Parts: sequence; C-alpha cells; structure tokens
Amino acid sequence: MPELYADIIVDISHEKVDKAFQYRIPMHLQGKIETGMCVVVPFGAGNKQIKGYVVEVSERCKFDEARMKEICGITAKGVSAEERMIELAAFLRRNYGGTMIQALKTVLPAKQSVKMLEHRTIVRKMDREQIISLLGESIRKGQKAKERLLRELTEQENIPYEWITGKLGVSPATIRSLEGAGVIKIESERSFRNPVKLQDVCSHRNDLSPEQQEIVNHVMADYDGDNIGTYLIHGITGSGKTEVYLQLAEEMVSRGKQAVVLIPEIALTYQTLLRFYRRFGDRVSVMNSTLSPGEKYDQCRRAKAGEIDVIIGPRSALFTPFPDIGLIIMDEEHEGSYKSESAPKYHAREVAMEIARMHGAGVVLGSATPSLEAYHMAREGKCTLFKLTRRLTGGSLPRVNIVDLREELREGNRSIFSRKLQELLSDRLQSGHQSMLFLNRRGYAGFISCRACGEVMKCEHCDVSLSEHRDGSLVCHYCGYMVRKPQTCPKCGSKYIMGFKAGTEQIEQKLTEMYPGIRVLRMDGDTTKTKDSYEKILSAFANGEADVLVGTQMIVKGHDFPNVTLVGVLAADLSLGATDFRAGERTFQLLTQAAGRAGRGDRPGEVVIQTYQPEHYAVVHAGAQDYESFYEEEILYRELSGYPPVDHMLAVQLYGKYPDNLQKLAEELASYTGSMADNSQPLAKRLRVIGPAPASIAKINDIFRYVFYVKHEKYDKLVQVKDLLEHKIQIIQPRYESVQFDFDPMHIL
Ligand code: ADP
Ligand code: ZN
Ligand code: ZN
Repeated sequence: MPELYADIIVDISHEKVDKAFQYRIPMHLQGKIETGMCVVVPFGAGNKQIKGYVVEVSERCKFDEARMKEICGITAKGVSAEERMIELAAFLRRNYGGTMIQALKTVLPAKQSVKMLEHRTIVRKMDREQIISLLGESIRKGQKAKERLLRELTEQENIPYEWITGKLGVSPATIRSLEGAGVIKIESERSFRNPVKLQDVCSHRNDLSPEQQEIVNHVMADYDGDNIGTYLIHGITGSGKTEVYLQLAEEMVSRGKQAVVLIPEIALTYQTLLRFYRRFGDRVSVMNSTLSPGEKYDQCRRAKAGEIDVIIGPRSALFTPFPDIGLIIMDEEHEGSYKSESAPKYHAREVAMEIARMHGAGVVLGSATPSLEAYHMAREGKCTLFKLTRRLTGGSLPRVNIVDLREELREGNRSIFSRKLQELLSDRLQSGHQSMLFLNRRGYAGFISCRACGEVMKCEHCDVSLSEHRDGSLVCHYCGYMVRKPQTCPKCGSKYIMGFKAGTEQIEQKLTEMYPGIRVLRMDGDTTKTKDSYEKILSAFANGEADVLVGTQMIVKGHDFPNVTLVGVLAADLSLGATDFRAGERTFQLLTQAAGRAGRGDRPGEVVIQTYQPEHYAVVHAGAQDYESFYEEEILYRELSGYPPVDHMLAVQLYGKYPDNLQKLAEELASYTGSMADNSQPLAKRLRVIGPAPASIAKINDIFRYVFYVKHEKYDKLVQVKDLLEHKIQIIQPRYESVQFDFDPMHIL
C-alpha cells in the first residue's frame, strides 16, 4: 500500500488557507481521511495537539519524508461553523471543480482588521456666560481658531468632533488645550460599523391575502413537522412574494432560527431593504458589493455571535456563518447572477439546497419567470409549487402589441421606431405620461462593418466586434481596447463603413430629433459606471424629471414607476440571436419583465415589442404573458436536444497563451473524455462529447480560449468525468494552459 499524505490547514481563515502543512496518514487511518475532515495533529516545536482541516489527500510527499509528522486522529464530527464551512467547501470542490483552496476562499470571509469607528463628541462643560467671556478674551488675543470653536459653543452644547476639526478647521491641539482648561470634554462612543443605518422600526404590517397565508402556513407546517423541503413561488411582480418572504423569515426568527435572503445585487434597492429593516430592525444585515472586506468580516462575526437573524444579499450571502439556519429565500431565482463566474462555478440555487440540507432548513425560490430548472423540479415533484396570481398593487395587465419589423420596412419605415411605437410615444408625451424604451445592447451603435466587402471591425485581442461610440472611437467591451474609427475599410478601401444596429445613445439622439423638447434619461453600462449613478438615474426618472427612460436590461428589473404607461422593446431579436441554448428563455424573461414595467399605477399600460421574428414562441408567449405555454415548448426543445435541465452539460474551458498547444490539449482531453463513454449503452444514454472548438470569443486579452462540452443525463456522471479529467491534467501538468469546469453553464464561452 502506498503512503498517503494529507495537506492540513491549522488556522482556518480566508488568508491562511494557502498555508497548508503536510502530514502522513498513518496506516490505521488510511481510507478514512477525506478532504474537508477535521483532524488532530501535532504542531510546532512542542508538538502541541491541535485541530486541523484536511484540504487534500495525495500520494505525493512534498517535504522531507523523514521529518514529516503523522496525523493523530479524527475529531468527532461536530457542527461548529468552521466545520460546516469546510464541509461546504468540499461540496463545492466536488461538484464544481477547482481547487480546495479556491473553494475555501469562496466560503470564508477575508479576515481584515475592522476599523472601529469612533464617534467623538465635544461637550461644553461651562455655562454659556463663561463661554462668552472666554470668547471675548480670545477675540482680543486674536486666537482665531479658539474663537471659532467658542462661538460655536455659545450656540450648542454638543458638537461632533469631526465637524470641529473639519468644517471649523480647529486643530486637535487647540481642542486639547480647551479640554485641559476644563472648558470642554471629549466623549467617545465606539461602535462597529453597521452598513444599514437604523431607521424607524415600524410595527405596521399588511394582513396576508389568503393565497399568501396558505404559502406561509404550508411551509411552516412542513418545518414544524420536520418535513421541510424546497418551494417555488411563481408570481408576477407585485403579487406579494416579498411580503411572504418577510412573514416566513419572521416565523423562523420567532423559532430562534436565522434566515438568508438572496436578492440579485441589482434589485438590492432602498425600498426593498427598508421593508426588511422595518420588520427586523438592526437584527437584519445587508451584504452588497459596496461593503469593504472589513465590514463583511464584521458581518460574519456578528452572524456567528448570534447578533443578527436575517441577512440579505447576493449569492455570497449564502456563506454567512449562521449557527442554525431555518430558511434560505432566493428571490428572482432565474437571474443569471446567481451563478458564479469564477471557480468554483457554483449555482446559488444548488448550494442553497445543500446548505439547507446541512441545517435542516427549507429553500423558498421566487420568480415571475421561473428558470427552467426550478419549474422542472416542481414538475418532477422535487419542489412544491405555489402560485400568486393577483397583482396587489392594483393595475391591470398591460396590452401587448407585437410589431413585425420586416413589415415596417416593406411599408417604407426605416426608422428604429415602428409606426405603432411612434403613435403611442406621441400620445404619452401629450398626456404627460412616462415611457421606457428598452434595448438589449449598449453604446452608440453596434458593430461596424464594411457594406462593400462585409469586413467587421474586431478587437485585436479578443476576437469580438468593436462598438462605435459617439466620439468616433471604436471600443472593445471585453478588454477596453480602443481605436479611432477608420475612414475607409482596411480590407477593400471602400468608404461605406458604418454601424448597423442602433445603440442606446443613438436612440436618445433620434428621440430628441423627432420630438423637440423631449426630456430623455439614458441608463446603460456607460452612464452607470459610478457607484450610485444607477440609483440617481432611477430616482430622477421616478421624480418625473424625464419623459422617456432609454436603457439596456438594467431598466427592466425591479422598481415601480407608477407614471409609466408605455414600454417599448426596440429589438427583441438581439437576445434571440445569441447562439446559446438559453437564448429563448432569456428572451422570454426579458420581454415579460419589460412588459411588467408598464401600467404599475392605476392607469393601464401598453407594451410594444418590435421584432423580426414575431412567430418565435418566446415572443408569442411573452406577448400573451403565458409562462406555462412557454415552459411547455421550451422544455420540449431542451429534451429533444439534450440540454439542461433535462440532461446535464459540462463545459470544459481551456485557456492558454499558445493556440497550437491549447488546441492539442483540448483534443487530448476531449478524446480522453470520449473514451469514457459506455458503448454498451444506447446512443441517447451515452456520454456525448461536443467539440473541442475555439470559444465563440476565441481570445481575450491575448489569452486563447478553447472549449468542449460533455453531456449526460446524470449530473453525477459528469462529476466523475470532471474528477477523471482533473486527474489526467495533474499527470499532464500543462505549463501554459489552465482548465476550468462549468456545470450546466449559463453562457457559452
Ligand atoms: P412582489 O415581491 O411579488 O413583487 P410585494 O411583496 O413587493 O410583491 O408586494 C407588492 C406590493 O403589495 C407592495 O407594495 C406590498 O406592500 C403590497 N402588499 C403585499 N402583500 C400585501 C397584502 N397582503 N396586503 C396589502 N398589501 C400588500
Ligand atoms: Zn471593405
Ligand atoms: Zn478586446
């Protein structure tokens, strides 16, 4: 039997996971030690026995064999937060690939010294008369700084320290001298920073509708009966899902449990947070990307210490080290941002279900347009489906017009606005209602190509088409590469070189030409670069500072604009065009959400969907707001072509500096994978390998990309494939190439 060794981390924190020590696994423990386990090891010169965590088991000895120490034993399986995190990391590594260190870094917060914010206040110790006489003295002596401070003290008894040193420009030395003379004292109050400022916690709450109450009762009865599972709430925006989440979280908290509420980052709006804040006061904490690592670390500390009951945040909030989770809620579960884009490429839905299993907790998914994955689970009986059918905010469903752009062209309309859209826009401008125009694309224009020879202007580093901006430059949206737009085609010299499809900037420009005096706000990747520009634009629009909001998909999410009665989708096809098996699903979601923006107030709304493919089922069913019919057609397509969620798919993504080497490695791994197929199985049940091929974006930042896909009906089988490939890669030890795994990918590479 070969010797086995284990890499062990003795201090489990985000920063220390790179520092593993290797120990020998003694004979009697061989076969029992696994990645993620907690063991006891001798440590340091005194060989003190301490706890450590196994992050890797291998046959390779990395250090001096003679001096290597042995593992003493396995600790009894406990349920400390650390052990759960290790277990979770092992789950991530096993199911999504990557290294144990990457997995650990995903679940552990970065430890950072949390700066204590000191709130210091200067308090007047003498009465006003005494201050006035001191003031007179300092005026006579020409002590300007002291004068400013004393003058302020005649008005107020307490002044924030920062205000005095900042606004009044009084030096700390001057403050100290007054303190020494007994004129003032400095009071300080130390506090951990809390990302949410305490608002008025208010006790008002809505009585749940019978539909809502039924969901709460059902889930809580399951929980109390030790029979909790996964639930899907299918309900349009405004049907009361969030109200149900609030109630469920409160029920859990009243049982001494904690709740995790996942919300896509973009939907973390002030209004939503306020509702949770009103309900849970400072027992709720918010995680978002603007938090510093120190604040995140502090949140984790507070969660572990039992100081908070509810956390709201994007997918990383899943890794809050709560002692006893009762419920994980995932709002807008269909959102692509729930899938991690770096290794381990996990999906929050699946990880939520694993965490729930570990804690004996439930998972509640909610969406107006459920993912095929979630709805498929419901159809298969793996989760309980609830429907919320009524819009509680009032307002009827909008009228949807589908406009065939080919028809417009035949009738001689070359504008980017169909006649129907123009007519409705004029009407809204006259009646003072607001409109939203939505385009699935940013920048002034789409790609630039030559009308004579068809040459497309591409980025030198990324193999994607460049986008034209108004200042005449061509920009790559992957790497930022920028060139001036050429006057003539670099290939054939023709001067007919121009952009095709319209971008948000061009729409804005066209609107101001067509409707003089129109007030337009634009929201896209370019206008929302700074942290709060997104909220600023939305609140300006909500305040009626513009007639039309033009934007990319950002504008279709969340947010109520009661005065919007017209929504135009300018080119529904742009998302259909993508060569991606989720294109239909994404288009349906986008169109449904966009339509949901119209008529949120008491006035009925209208929607115009412009498209070159009016007969496409995603367009037709979105127009009819009919999720189920869409699902039926979409799932049939997935079944026939063997795509998730019916079958599973593993993308093996290869990155490398040298295209030839990369291609060779891709071919070697793909053919090795092909050899795993069990040829005794009927073809349809066999493992299938697609590719390898250069990725659709073959190069980014001078790194070449190759990909091949492996399909099988069983997810576990693909996990096995991944394990074998990882092993193979370890043997090959490629020098300039790296490989990543993406299970059931959201995007094709
Ligand atoms: P969703 O999360 O599905 O978009 P919300 O929970 O935000 O729906 O509810 C939409 C609106 O209806 C909110 O303004 C909310 O305060 C209100 N609301 C929700 N449930 C009720 C209820 N049972 N009674 C009265 N108003 C409600
Ligand atoms: Zn040309
Ligand atoms: Zn580029």
